[in-house]
Amino acid sequence: MSDCCAIEGSAESCATMFSEKSATAKCFVCGTEGRPVEQQTVLHHVKHEQLDRVNGEAYRFCPDLKCEVVYYGDHGTRFSVDDLRELVTAKTHGDQRPICYCFGFTEGDARKEIVSTGKTTIPATVSRLIKGGMCACEIRNPVGLCCLGEVNKTVKRLLTSAAEPDASGSATSDDCRA
Ligand SMILES: [Zn+2]
Repeated sequence: MSDCCAIEGSAESCATMFSEKSATAKCFVCGTEGRPVEQQTVLHHVKHEQLDRVNGEAYRFCPDLKCEVVYYGDHGTRFSVDDLRELVTAKTHGDQRPICYCFGFTEGDARKEIVSTGKTTIPATVSRLIKGGMCACEIRNPVGLCCLGEVNKTVKRLLTSAAEPDASGSATSDDCRA
């Protein structure tokens, strides 16, 4: 369970309990321990032609930026970046990197706003929409978590690199871990 989208100062959260299944803990390819995701999240994100490979295994999400595997099951099924309909935050960098799936913000949206105004309204907008009950992150976000933690982390990194023009601003793998 995650409290990443708990609104500061309130008890609201769209965190979801994940059923603990005995999925193989480590990604077969990179060896990183993935986090469990529900089958409905996998079903929502894989391309139509991949749906018949979703067969009731206990799935995990591999968070490693360099690893092609997005989901792996305890019986050996893998879904890679190319098997998914959308770009995956943890596997993408640059302006096209999604930071909020519910409301459609990318890293580029935040970066452009920071460049032109010195700040960004995206975290506040996302918080407001979550408070309004419009968050469906556990389905819409491929990692099965609320996007707000990733939004805040990305904005913090962009603000830091905007304040230090010499910094490369490039994403490290730490930035991409959920
Ligand atoms: Zn992996």
